[in-house]
Amino acid sequence: MLWTASLCVLWASSVLGAPVNNEKQKVLLISFDGFRWDYDRDVDTPNLDQMAEDGVKALYVTPPYLTITSPTHFTLLTGRYIENHGVIHNMFFNTTTGEKKSYYQSQFVDQWWDNGTLPIWITAQRQGLKAGSLHFPGTASSYQGQFVMHKEVEPQLYNYKNETAWRENTDKVMSWFRDKNVNFVSFYFGEPDGTGHRYGPDSNERREMVKQVDRTVGYIRQSAERHGLTHRLNIIITSDHGMSTVYRNGLVEEITLSKIPGFSFGDLSFHLVDYGPSGMLSPKPGRLEAVYNALKGAHPHLHVYKKEDVPEHLRFTKNDRILPIILWADPGYVINGYFPVQFNKGEHGYDNQAMDMKPFFRAVGPAFHKNLKVGPFETVNIYPLMCHILGIEPEVNDGHLDATKHMLVTSTAARAESSSHRKYMKNAFTGLAAVAGFLVIVFAAAVVQRLLKQKRKTKRSGSLRDLPEKEDAHQTPF
Ligand SMILES: [Zn+2]
Repeated sequence: MLWTASLCVLWASSVLGAPVNNEKQKVLLISFDGFRWDYDRDVDTPNLDQMAEDGVKALYVTPPYLTITSPTHFTLLTGRYIENHGVIHNMFFNTTTGEKKSYYQSQFVDQWWDNGTLPIWITAQRQGLKAGSLHFPGTASSYQGQFVMHKEVEPQLYNYKNETAWRENTDKVMSWFRDKNVNFVSFYFGEPDGTGHRYGPDSNERREMVKQVDRTVGYIRQSAERHGLTHRLNIIITSDHGMSTVYRNGLVEEITLSKIPGFSFGDLSFHLVDYGPSGMLSPKPGRLEAVYNALKGAHPHLHVYKKEDVPEHLRFTKNDRILPIILWADPGYVINGYFPVQFNKGEHGYDNQAMDMKPFFRAVGPAFHKNLKVGPFETVNIYPLMCHILGIEPEVNDGHLDATKHMLVTSTAARAESSSHRKYMKNAFTGLAAVAGFLVIVFAAAVVQRLLKQKRKTKRSGSLRDLPEKEDAHQTPF
């Protein structure tokens, strides 16, 4: 009887607790570094256009500040603003020892990345899914002792422009999805950032590179089809930041800190400058006001803030790694230290409100509406969107599904609303099943006890005469 009851409970809970859609959807997150929101306006991009027709196109998205590669990519992977996830710069630095590491070297410094916020790979893996990452910033590091399951980190001297390699990498990622049954992959391309820096965002070279990106988008979608993934794979293509033309050739007065009256590098214990339009300074004890007063208002296109006074929309204050004085320049300018050493024609790292800093966004796949144009949203919201499609519980984050839910087809969007209700129902059922199971045991114990009592009674009287016939025959079988 008990055995039958347990079987019933097991059967019922497996039916009622089953997910609505048994076939899990997959997500491929692609970043083309430095692809500004409007790069498809002065170049023919048939494949990006086709993707917009088959899926969703946002007017643009807003990255977090500081608009540089590693910090903004880690926001895509975590849904947290930079001050909250702590990867505040491309460069690992130590203000005590004065050590600074390059973008590439910093990829291998675990403590720089692993400081409390888990990227989506680890969360997905902890919840039973498989994740992969190819060249995406943050891939090389471990998080609370765990690595992304399938990973490829580019070698130090890597040609980020090679279109053949782009295609080989694409096929590799698709085979992870098909042959290793991976659920989520992040996939990074180093262009058109490199070309935008070198030749400027308005150059012919940049336009040619956008054509290469467009061909690759076509190739990615073909490869997904060849690998039989189209009906399960959702492809999100976006970027970390945009690009802005730098004024050169004596057109403007450049910002060079050493030339500013009253400012001295001798007042600093540590600094990060000569890194595009942003800078951070750590004054020596007692020198903060002197440094701040010398720099504030020294150049019409240089913004100088004490850490705690940084404008709220930048959300670049609440982290111990952020230095006491923050500098940034208006679009068109860079911040030089002793003398100009930066000669890029394009830069990023500006205020995230500047239109030149906004990336593009496209998405296609079974979870997304077709031919839908949507308004802008912040890139912190991409993380909860991906978690939702994958069916995983997100970590604490700064995004919200409400910002992107309208891009999802009804069944997927409805799942967002019903998932909490379903969870409640499942819990309620589990509770009821437990109570029922307990009652079964109590009842069975009572019956057994009564039978034993009767048996003893009969033994004592030495006769079966007084025993009511088939006393428990009328009990209801379970
Ligand atoms: Zn760049």
